[in-house]
Amino acid sequence: MNVHDSDTISQILVNKGYKKTDSINDAHIILINTCAVRQKAEQKAFTLIGRLASLKRERPNIISGIIGCVAQEKGTDLLQHFPFVDLVLGPRNIYRIDDFLAQIKEGRGKTSSLDLTCEPYTLTACNGYAKGRVSTFLKIMEGCDNFCSYCIVPFVRGRETSLPAEDIISASKYLISQGIKEITLIGQNVNSYNTKNNTLPTFPGLLKKLDKIAGLERLRFVTSHPKDLSNELIGCFGELTSLCPHIHLPVQSGSDNILLLMNRRYTRDKYLSLVERLKIVRPDITITSDLIVGFPGETEKDFEDSLQLIDNVEFDNLFSFKYSERPQTKALQLPGKLDEKEKQRRLFILQERQRKITLSKNKKMEGSIQEILVEGTGKKDDSQLTGRTPGNKVVNFSANKNLKGQLVRIKIIKGFQNSLLGELVDKYDRKVY
Ligand code: SAM
Ligand code: SF4
Repeated sequence: MNVHDSDTISQILVNKGYKKTDSINDAHIILINTCAVRQKAEQKAFTLIGRLASLKRERPNIISGIIGCVAQEKGTDLLQHFPFVDLVLGPRNIYRIDDFLAQIKEGRGKTSSLDLTCEPYTLTACNGYAKGRVSTFLKIMEGCDNFCSYCIVPFVRGRETSLPAEDIISASKYLISQGIKEITLIGQNVNSYNTKNNTLPTFPGLLKKLDKIAGLERLRFVTSHPKDLSNELIGCFGELTSLCPHIHLPVQSGSDNILLLMNRRYTRDKYLSLVERLKIVRPDITITSDLIVGFPGETEKDFEDSLQLIDNVEFDNLFSFKYSERPQTKALQLPGKLDEKEKQRRLFILQERQRKITLSKNKKMEGSIQEILVEGTGKKDDSQLTGRTPGNKVVNFSANKNLKGQLVRIKIIKGFQNSLLGELVDKYDRKVY
């Protein structure tokens, strides 16, 4: 979401005539987009904000801003605390970035906007956004009403608001007309799209409408809350041609006691039955997840339950975190806090266990033929091309022609921890194969 927000801000500014620079030393405007979800992310933001002080000393005319979730959390105190900062903007206020910059340039002083009721919109459909891209995010909702007891998001991104389906459909059509082949719908909890206001279409309905758009090769979405994963949505994985067989379904814990304390509103058995149904409807589906260790009160047995769950599900990948105390959240009041050393020990054991599962799943793909959407040259080796399988695994391969934006068939030669190595079979044409 933050990547998409940064992208949105930069596109608004480019459309207003600003130019991007890769060097902070050349920039006249420096905006730091921040994440507050864990303490570590927040500390990183403060380190970067500290660097602004010397830049501003050297070049007093630059405009500097703190935006995003830390801006929302700390508010206007940031302007007092960091006198070299001109602008503080919450994540729901980014669409008006140009107005705020204009105010500062006109000499009207420092400014801030922290309104959590601003309506989001899909700006992706503006000129130039798709340039050079094959794949893009498309925001379909903002905010969250779930109040998981550890999570700061509902406090810094406000109440859940769904964007109108017509806007999402017309933005998708526009993006495809500009060369986009793959769209990932994003929101804090996409599968509750439109349910709050009892409006149609619901999320599966939206997917069905998007699936009909000619030229959309791949459709993905992130993130889904297990409590809102309906049978209709699971069914979409068996029905919709463009919907990729991958779901990111954060479980957070394998223990019912902890899930209850987390206010997740599902049980371990419910989660496992969802996974089973997904695998029945789409046997090749890849499943990834998020998991927190060391939540207050997590016993050794609760932790064992999490380990057993990951053995049972065999996630393709897992994002795991040590519980981090966040302001305003209910979990702050819970007894049974674990010390850092114990959280670290549990995280290490969990991550080692998952590494083995991920590697073994990647190795099992050796010899298979996969459809890859080519995204461009590799990050580490630009003599290689890179793309993703429908299940969202990164594949690198060599080719002596530019295949960016094309679907190709690749034979997987080797499975590594974080990617696959393949060799080109041929270009892929769904009409032929
Ligand atoms: N909306 C998504 C969902 O419900 O799964 C998750 C969004 S959250 C920004 C991303 C992940 O950060 C969560 O799934 C959770 O695992 C992790 N997270 C959130 N708050 C955390 C905290 N206080 N400590 C550690 N991890 C946290
Ligand atoms: Fe945070 Fe829970 Fe909302 Fe996800 S669903 S953003 S974890 S409160």
